[in-house]
Amino acid sequence: TKLSDTALFARRESEARSYCRGFDTVFTSARGSEITDAKGRTYIDFLAGCSSLNYGHNDTDMKLALIEHLSADGIAHGLDLHTDTKKAFIQAFETHILKPRGMDHKMMFTGPTGANAVEAAMKIARKSTGRTEVVAFTNGFHGVTQGALSATGNGYHRGGAGTSLNGVTRLPFDGYMGEDVDTADLLEAMLNDASSGLDAPAAIMFETVQGEGGLNAARPEWITRVAKLAKEHGALLIIDDVQAGCGRTGGFFSFDGMDVMPDIVTMAKSISGFGLPMGLVLVRPDEDVMGPAEHNGTFRGNTHAFVTARVAIEKFWADDAFLGDITRRAKIVEEGLEAIASMVDGAYLKGRGMMRGVDVGTGELAGEICAKAFENGLIVETSGSDDEVIKILAPLTTPDETLRRGLDILIAAAAEVTG
Ligand code: PMP
Repeated sequence: TKLSDTALFARRESEARSYCRGFDTVFTSARGSEITDAKGRTYIDFLAGCSSLNYGHNDTDMKLALIEHLSADGIAHGLDLHTDTKKAFIQAFETHILKPRGMDHKMMFTGPTGANAVEAAMKIARKSTGRTEVVAFTNGFHGVTQGALSATGNGYHRGGAGTSLNGVTRLPFDGYMGEDVDTADLLEAMLNDASSGLDAPAAIMFETVQGEGGLNAARPEWITRVAKLAKEHGALLIIDDVQAGCGRTGGFFSFDGMDVMPDIVTMAKSISGFGLPMGLVLVRPDEDVMGPAEHNGTFRGNTHAFVTARVAIEKFWADDAFLGDITRRAKIVEEGLEAIASMVDGAYLKGRGMMRGVDVGTGELAGEICAKAFENGLIVETSGSDDEVIKILAPLTTPDETLRRGLDILIAAAAEVTG
């Protein structure tokens, strides 16, 4: 068969496959914010590994560092042994990320997915507090392993293979009850009432911007209030920065600039910088309660990921220059999305920073616009409980001109579908 033929995938790959159904072609190479298929067609990539390619495809510096490491027979896999590459990453992260923020958190390398980092975070909170209940929120997404899935609030946990575990309760997220109700009031009432069963939780866990749940962005006031409530009630505050972290919402952490310091931060996706698997939990030293082998895993600490992750931190986070680029590009994205919102009655913008989207009301319309955009050379996905939000996750390094070109394709697609 021809390389560009996709029939083999439909015939032999599990029905669990998803993104590849909408973007049904065989991809062969990628660079920066563009990805090319076997027919020689190049697409602008606004999906970018669902925020795992914040620095684009095949960043030259990361690639060269990796090639050098491979050429020198550097350690390819070392369980969690001390290695020179892990040391260099820890040093870079400490210098450029933790110290400037006054964070004394320890770094726990978990199994190489976001879900595994979330599992670790939930287990740490339970062990540290001696409590079991974890409070999560409507439309949150934390991963598909059983514990993380239980905290996931968009229905994946019901039916199918997902069984909600005892000890996880999902409360309304900020904005869920409309503008007139502050859902932190409800949380506070539940925490103060033993009859709720939520009066002594081990942890309160949320994403500051819900990536899969429709780009619902919690207000900083809500975030700081929930953080305060967690502290008052002896619960650990877990911020899941798997998707919103690594610059996606502006700062390195999605809570940068807010008056909040999580006890635990979960990271994965873009932390390796290169699309290599890596899971990381940041935990306050006094809550670093997991003993040896209590949360182990063969692929804790992917050595190749440490190489590229170190380069990513040193290249993008050693000074503030990148923050300016992100802010400028976020404005370009916002303008493009406003053009689309103006075409659809009731449409409105969602998200924060470079994690933005437009709610066009229905999954059907959003899907049609994305499908049309793909025909015209753009990869872009939807999010939300009904997939009603067109979601832009362009690499943060996307040149302004490429960003505008991609947005123009999306705007033209929206005009064609709605017009
Ligand atoms: N948390 C958040 C906020 C996520 O967006 C995701 C993935 N979409 C996960 C956890 C799970 O990460 P992974 O797919 O690597 O298990």
